[in-house]
Amino acid sequence: MNKNIYIVEDEPDILALIQLKLNEAGFRTKGFERAEPLFKHLITEYPDLILLDLMLPDMDGMEVCRKLKSDAATEKIPVVMLTARCDLEDKVKGLEFGADDYITKPFEAKELVARLKAVIRRSGWEIAKNVLTINPDFIIDFNRYEILIRNVRLDVTLTEFKILQLLTKRPGWVYNRSQILDYLWGTDKVVIERTIDVHIRNLREKLGYFAYMIKNTRGVGYYFFTKPNED
Ligand code: CA
Repeated sequence: MNKNIYIVEDEPDILALIQLKLNEAGFRTKGFERAEPLFKHLITEYPDLILLDLMLPDMDGMEVCRKLKSDAATEKIPVVMLTARCDLEDKVKGLEFGADDYITKPFEAKELVARLKAVIRRSGWEIAKNVLTINPDFIIDFNRYEILIRNVRLDVTLTEFKILQLLTKRPGWVYNRSQILDYLWGTDKVVIERTIDVHIRNLREKLGYFAYMIKNTRGVGYYFFTKPNED
């Protein structure tokens, strides 16, 4: 699978150029012109690396880096800082905030690609987890879209599977109905939020004993609970 790079850069020309160069080098890319949509995206998808501009309109790049590195869900994603500044002080500060590397503009496309590859290799951050073993009796195979309960394959719909896939990305994290809808259907959703409740009810029914792992926070949404059942 091609590595997926998120690029946060507010200058559209530079963003387009970086995307072009990285795509040519075989990376998949997603561009963000501000920090806020990046964080929104990280709720449902993790990239292999984040290339982060230091000067952004809505948040300082250092602050973005600090926020990423202080959240258990995102701390392992490698971050490479991209900036026009070449002060030693800024470099040191960036690395102190947890950045994995630092690239100064203007840069050579070849150097950028080589550095990103090196950081990804070195980081050991692996997002392509294909099989999730919640416990020996409850296994999810993301490649084959299969849920195995005591070695028996559950007959779930693709929607039910994707809901479980989302909830298990961050156990304990409450996803609201609108985030679940975004994950399932993107922006062209035509269904109402209550539809989620119906899918969840069906999924819980199919999970049988393990239904307790899908919890509801009243008025907010749903989350995945991995601890053993105490009832
Ligand atoms: Ca900038």
